[in-house]
Amino acid sequence: MTSIGTDLRRVVRGRVLAPGDDAFETARLPWNRAIDQQVRAVVEIEDAADAAAVIRYAKLHGVGVTAQAGGHGASSHLDGTILVRTGRLRGIDVRPEQRIAQVEAGVQWGDLLLATGKHGLTGLPGSSPVVSVTGYTLGGGMSWFGRRYGLAANAVRAFDVVDADGARAHVTAESDPDLFWALRGGGGDFALVTSMEVDLHPAPVLYGGRLLWPADRAPQVLDAFREVTATAPDELTVWFTMLRFPPLPHVPEPLRGLAAVAIDTTYLGADDEARALLQRFETIPGTILDTRAPMALDALGGICAEPTQPVPGMQRGDLLVGLDDDVAADLLAAAGGIAPLAAVQVRHLGGALSRPTPGSGACGHLAEPYLLGLLGPVPTPEAAQAVRERQAEISRALMAHTTGRKPYTYLGGGEKTAAAFPRDVMSRLRDIKRRRDPAGVIRSNHPVLIS
Ligand SMILES: Cc1cc2nc3c(=O)[nH]c(=O)nc-3n(C[C@H](O)[C@H](O)[C@H](O)COP(=O)(O)OP(=O)(O)OC[C@H]3O[C@@H](n4cnc5c(N)ncnc54)[C@H](O)[C@@H]3O)c2cc1C
Repeated sequence: MTSIGTDLRRVVRGRVLAPGDDAFETARLPWNRAIDQQVRAVVEIEDAADAAAVIRYAKLHGVGVTAQAGGHGASSHLDGTILVRTGRLRGIDVRPEQRIAQVEAGVQWGDLLLATGKHGLTGLPGSSPVVSVTGYTLGGGMSWFGRRYGLAANAVRAFDVVDADGARAHVTAESDPDLFWALRGGGGDFALVTSMEVDLHPAPVLYGGRLLWPADRAPQVLDAFREVTATAPDELTVWFTMLRFPPLPHVPEPLRGLAAVAIDTTYLGADDEARALLQRFETIPGTILDTRAPMALDALGGICAEPTQPVPGMQRGDLLVGLDDDVAADLLAAAGGIAPLAAVQVRHLGGALSRPTPGSGACGHLAEPYLLGLLGPVPTPEAAQAVRERQAEISRALMAHTTGRKPYTYLGGGEKTAAAFPRDVMSRLRDIKRRRDPAGVIRSNHPVLIS
C-alpha cells in the first residue's frame, strides 16, 4: 500500500507534504498557532486542476478536504482532513471600467488593495492586510467600508469552484442560485473556491488612523464614541478598543506594556470633513498617539497595528443591540482591567450592513448596530483556559444587551455554527450541504452539519 503523500504526488503538480516529510510539521500549522490542526497531508495547489485532483482522491478514499489560505480562522474541525493550501493562487485582475476584480483564492487583502488603489477603487476589506479575501468573504466579511457598501459576501458576482465531486464550475446567481447563495456567507463547506469576481467601489480619497489614550480615559472615550457613532454618516467608521500592549521588545516605547484605549477610524472622503466629524474626540485630553491622516488605500491594514506574523489567539464576538447608558456602564464594569485579554473592542456596524438587500447571500444583513469583540493571546494551554473564562465572564455581563447571534468570521473554537445564522438560513444551508456533498468531502472550519 502506498502512502498518502506518494498517492497525492502522483495526481497534483503542487508541493505535497505528509507525515514523515521534514517540512510537514511546520507546513500543517495555521496562522492562528493556538490551533494544532492535525491534518493527514498538506497540498500547496498550483491551480484549479490540482484542487479537483485532491477532491477526487479524497472522495475515492473517504477522507475530508479543507481549503485554507492562511489559517486565521483555523478550528479543530479540520483535524483528519487533507489540507489544501491556496497560497500560490495569487492572481489579481482589476477591470476598472467594469469596477470588478477577479481575485484568486490565495490573495491577501493588502495585495488586492494595492492593486485596486491605483484606480481609486476598493473592495470591502477588514482590519488585517494578511487575511485572505476568499476566507473572509466566504464568512460574510465585515469591512471598514461595510457601513457604506454592506457585507463583502454580498459584493461577489461569481465564483470559480471545484465541487464535492471534483467538477469545476463557474457559479453565478443565474447558473446555480443555491450554491451562489450558500457561498456568500455560509463559509467554506460547499465547494472549494479557486477564484472570485468581486465588485469594486469608488475610494478616490481616504482618511484614517488611530487615536490613543491611557486606559483610565476609557469612560470619556466611550461616551464620545457613542455620540459620534449615533450620528455618523455611512462613509465614517469608528471602532472603540480597550487594549493591552504586550511588554515585549518589538513593541516600541511608550506603548510597551501599556494599558490604553483607542479609537480607530476610516472616512471615505476628504480630511476636513473627517476632522469635523471626529472633532468630539479632540476634547479628550491626554492623547498618547494620533496617526489620523489622509492615507493610501493599501495603508489601511496598518491602522489597528494587528500582528501580521502567526500568533496564538482566541477570539469571541457578540452582537450588541445598542450602546445606551446601561450597556456602556455594564461594559466598563465588566471589562475594566481587561487582562488576560489583549483587546476588548466595540465596532460600529449599522448603515448598509443593517439594511436587507434583495438577492443577498446566506450572510443576509446584520441588524445589530455594534459588535463586541474579545481577543486573547494564548501562548500556553493554561493561558487558553484563563482567556476563555474571561471572555465568557464579559459576554455574560452583557448578555442582556446581545441578540445571541454571532458573526461567522468571529466564531470562536467551541461555538456553534448555528449561532451565526437565523434558523431558516441554517436549515437551507444544511439542506444544500446534504444535497451537494452527501459524503461530506468538503469540510469547513465551522461545518454546518456538525454543530
Ligand atoms: C487579525 C485579524 C483581523 C481580522 N479582521 C476581520 C475583520 O475586520 N472583519 C471580519 O469579518 N473578519 C476579520 N477577521 C476574521 C477572518 O475574516 C477569519 O479569520 C477568516 O477565516 C479569514 O481568515 P483566512 O483568510 O486566514 O482564512 P482561513 O483560516 O485560511 O480560512 C477560513 C475558512 O474559510 C474557508 N476557505 C478559505 N479558503 C477557501 C477556499 N479557497 N475555498 C473554500 N473555502 C475556503 C475554509 O472553510 C477555511 O477553514 C480577522 C481575523 C484576524 C486574525
